Amino acid sequence: MNMSGISVPALQRNIPLAAHTTLKIGGAADYFAEPSNEEQLQKLLAWAKQERLSCFILGNGSNLVFDDAGYRGLVISMRCFENDLIKVDLDACRVTVSAGVSLSRLVRFCHESGLAGTEFLAHIPGTVGGALIMNAGFSRHAGQQNAIGDLVEEVRALAKEGAIVHRGRSELKFSYRHSNLGDLIVLEATLRLWRRSKEQIRKEMEANLDHRTKRQNVREPNAGSVFKNPPPPHPSAGSLIEKAGLKGKRIGGIQISEQHANYFVNKGGATSADVIHLIEEVQKTILHANGITLEPEIRIVPEN
Ligand SMILES: Cc1cc2nc3c(=O)[nH]c(=O)nc-3n(C[C@H](O)[C@H](O)[C@H](O)COP(=O)(O)OP(=O)(O)OC[C@H]3O[C@@H](n4cnc5c(N)ncnc54)[C@H](O)[C@@H]3O)c2cc1C
Repeated sequence: MNMSGISVPALQRNIPLAAHTTLKIGGAADYFAEPSNEEQLQKLLAWAKQERLSCFILGNGSNLVFDDAGYRGLVISMRCFENDLIKVDLDACRVTVSAGVSLSRLVRFCHESGLAGTEFLAHIPGTVGGALIMNAGFSRHAGQQNAIGDLVEEVRALAKEGAIVHRGRSELKFSYRHSNLGDLIVLEATLRLWRRSKEQIRKEMEANLDHRTKRQNVREPNAGSVFKNPPPPHPSAGSLIEKAGLKGKRIGGIQISEQHANYFVNKGGATSADVIHLIEEVQKTILHANGITLEPEIRIVPEN
């Protein structure tokens, strides 16, 4: 497609964003594109700049709620972005993976290569890019502190004005569900892993799956944990919500899951306004009962 003199790959108009998130909420994006490589991504950014449009970078939409009014600008989905590109240096135990690769594919690749470290990411339904921005993690018990940031050696990214930047280990800052990559478009990351037998890796993945199935077997559309856990020694967000008797509470189409108190599920027709309303209700109740302000982990994307 050629718009205003810039050739832009497959630009789509008025695309409903609900279909691009796991919680299935959100109106339409004015413009939507799924670049499959860096050149296409650069062209899209140049076009949006020329048209003075805001851009939103979307991974697998597993941690997001778009506004009911949609997004006034260009949503760039990274799901097709070099989404099979994984390179391995077995001697150095290093894996370089594109931002568009799904975490499940990355974990499978590492397992097949006999490289351990990524097993805890196996059942997180995000892309590598989204996981780096969120510093995605999962632990079976309090002693484990597994987060993707701990594995990262280098990130290659695009600054919003189009320059390629490299961030080495010493420049990267990861904390609980947060990274200092927020102003960049992540293109790829190099992870430092370690050798382990395929059998041991498989056992670790199975233990994670078993733990998740017992505690988080939520089948309705959701976006994972809604709130971050408050720092120790406070109980987890889920147990605070459960103890407050809020499991099953519903506003409009959104409900606190009966299975897992830190998950909200879309019972059908939920809106972003419902989600915001329920978040505020939970925050108010927990502040009143425990003196703790729960901070949302999911991201609400305004219309712009
Ligand atoms: C069933 C379920 C279970 C979950 N379990 C976990 C869990 O155990 N642990 C955990 O941490 N999370 C969990 N999550 C939440 C979610 O999967 C993670 O946060 C995941 O890392 C988000 O990745 P994504 O690709 O879907 O990102 P999105 O939700 O699409 O985006 C998240 C943020 O990253 C930005 N982003 C995405 N890609 C890029 C990129 N290439 N460059 C720059 N910015 C980008 C977006 O703009 C947005 O700000 C779960 C979610 C679900 C639905």
